[in-house]
Amino acid sequence: MNLCDQKTIKQLMAMFSLNFRKEFGQNFLTNVSVVEDIADNCCDDSESTVLEIGPGVGSLTRELAVRYKRVIAVEIDNGLIPVLKYTLGEFSNVTVINEDVMKLDLEELLAPAFARGKVSVCANLPYYITTPILMKLLESGLPFDSITVMIQSEVADRLCAVPGGKNCGAITAVLNYYGEPRRLFRVGAHNFVPPPKVESSVIRIDLYKERPYRPLDEAIFFRTVKGAFEQRRKTLPNALSAAFGELSKEELTEIIVSCGHSPDVRGERLTVEDFRAIADEIYRRTRAES
Ligand code: SAM
Repeated sequence: MNLCDQKTIKQLMAMFSLNFRKEFGQNFLTNVSVVEDIADNCCDDSESTVLEIGPGVGSLTRELAVRYKRVIAVEIDNGLIPVLKYTLGEFSNVTVINEDVMKLDLEELLAPAFARGKVSVCANLPYYITTPILMKLLESGLPFDSITVMIQSEVADRLCAVPGGKNCGAITAVLNYYGEPRRLFRVGAHNFVPPPKVESSVIRIDLYKERPYRPLDEAIFFRTVKGAFEQRRKTLPNALSAAFGELSKEELTEIIVSCGHSPDVRGERLTVEDFRAIADEIYRRTRAES
């Protein structure tokens, strides 16, 4: 069965009386070479477990199942569960879970997989919830080997921007704190049914085994990053004033200058290391004052 064939997908949907559900971001891939490329490039070790988010009718899931030791596929749409039983029935190494990935306890779900070896994530993500899913994966603290996801190209531009350069956002700094993101390739809208309104990109994040950035207080580091971009048109001392009410604008300016920046610098000019240094200085001052 060619699960990338438009006709087959539509027949399957009709056979199980299903419609494409826009609210779940259901745009299914119809180009087998794109699916194969994603499966080939998402993981370096055939002994790995792959967590797939949103298997749809199972096209990518099948390609993952033939390449890797185990696949755990989480699908929110209960209508697709019988379809997946039908399309993936021959694979004893695939487990399908009918759940909203945002509600899942990933640590509990993946504990046996981490005990056995490496775990990577691979998904053609529903676009309505890309950033929350990525943040959940990263903030879980679970030692994923890599995360490979198809997302909107516009979001990929931001995620893969060079920290301190054009297109940077809070998510760029956060992502680069956890690992190294890069774009693998672009995928046009004609490779999906129904076609999305935008171009897509596949990105891969290789997570650091040992993080190079070690802020004194992680919560203050993230507050600094998010605060800097929340009011991105403002200069850094002004933007951070809103995030750190306990410090005056003069104190924040002093901190920023002591870290080697001009007082009118903006958040998008800073690298992860710059944020780490400013956050550490904020931590020292606020601790000394409390
Ligand atoms: N993997 C398939 C493919 O590439 O053709 C389908 C990808 S489609 C873009 C996104 C899939 O994610 C859909 O199957 C959708 O039902 C599922 N999904 C949407 N929100 C989800 C959530 N919160 N948790 C788990 N699955 C979700």
